[in-house]
Amino acid sequence: MLCLKARAKINWTLDILGRRADGYHQMDMLMQSVRLADTLWLEESDRLTLEDAGQGFRTETGDGEACAAPVPFDENNLVVKAARALQKAAGIQKGARMRLRKEIPSGAGMGGGSADAAAALIGLNRLWNLPFSTDELERIGLTVGADVPFLVRGGLCRAEGIGEKLTSLTPAPQGWLVLWQPCDGLSTGEIFSAFDHTPPEKLARPQTLRAQQALLTGDWAALAASMKNVLEEVSVEKRPELNRALRRLEALGALRAMMTGSGSVVYGLFDAQEEAEAALAGLDNEKGFRAVTCTEAEGVRFIPPLS
Ligand code: ATP
Repeated sequence: MLCLKARAKINWTLDILGRRADGYHQMDMLMQSVRLADTLWLEESDRLTLEDAGQGFRTETGDGEACAAPVPFDENNLVVKAARALQKAAGIQKGARMRLRKEIPSGAGMGGGSADAAAALIGLNRLWNLPFSTDELERIGLTVGADVPFLVRGGLCRAEGIGEKLTSLTPAPQGWLVLWQPCDGLSTGEIFSAFDHTPPEKLARPQTLRAQQALLTGDWAALAASMKNVLEEVSVEKRPELNRALRRLEALGALRAMMTGSGSVVYGLFDAQEEAEAALAGLDNEKGFRAVTCTEAEGVRFIPPLS
């Protein structure tokens, strides 16, 4: 049996440069793997199946209540879609018993489903003795979703194109994050469509190159000054609670608070674990998924099955 951790991501920056003729948005993002992860178990089997191994929102750091969008445990799950894409690319019909334990909130902008797809590609490539390289798995992953290539690669990347043009960057020093999903999940499609109807002058954009340089030198203050998510105001319009959460995290000492992806998770950036833990304690009376996590230099990781 194989066991994999499918790590979530956050955006340090998210910019949209335009729209292609086929309707896809041209992205420019700094994306970062974080420790918060789902767990995927894979075993050989005649059939391809996926089971729900329980929702693991950890009670010591977050209550996970109410916010999570339902995750389908059928052919619509991105794990199954990734497995089918891999079968197709390899021209095989092998099966696997797959079990998934969710820890990453959904509709969160943390790429939870895409991380699971990435773990399925990397894990099944090994389980089925397939020869695909990471680059090839990224290409197969792109047929499943635009964020999947980054989640296959992991670490710290600049992601351009629709998310598939990846440049790996030297990992920055570890940063500590307080995650908070103060309201219901948001649909990525809905937020992008609202973005398309928002006048550009209403939207604040990141200074991506400055943020990238700040990450390379570990200058958290410079990073905090140049981070921005162009979708933040669009999501705040739909969920005003997000704005309050951002201000609250900054009042609790975050160097900067920002929304990740299309939301609805916001995070506060801290340069030490103790500060992040203290801020999390300050959110004790709040509702919604809350947790401390940290940046990681790699994405999907194999772990011994019993741990
Ligand atoms: P992204 O940042 O990539 O847009 P997200 O974090 O906003 O993603 P996800 O958690 O990936 O959102 O899930 C969005 C929707 O995808 C869910 O509401 C669910 O219906 C569907 N989905 C399919 N497979 C999965 C999966 N393995 N885990 C979570 N959601 C899944």
